[in-house]
Amino acid sequence: MSSSAKMSVFHDEIEIEDFEYDDDTETYYFPCPCGDKFAITKEDLENGEDVATCPSCSLIVKVIYDKESFMSGETIEAPSSSSETKLELVQS
Ligand SMILES: [Zn+2]
Repeated sequence: MSSSAKMSVFHDEIEIEDFEYDDDTETYYFPCPCGDKFAITKEDLENGEDVATCPSCSLIVKVIYDKESFMSGETIEAPSSSSETKLELVQS
């Protein structure tokens, strides 16, 4: 049984776009500092989970993603009523 302790000690917050998606396992991966990878499944995301865990250490990261688009089960076009503005970080 995995204890779902209420920890808010995220190592980092990572946007889902920065994760690497594996089609076979339907899991998103992101490199962990320990050398392993944080992992969160597509199913988890659809269930509203936003915590990716590393199997080799105790670090966890918060996944930044659009829950609504995941929970709908399919990709949706940007709604015309959307008033959200995406801030683009200056990066590579
Ligand atoms: Zn790790």
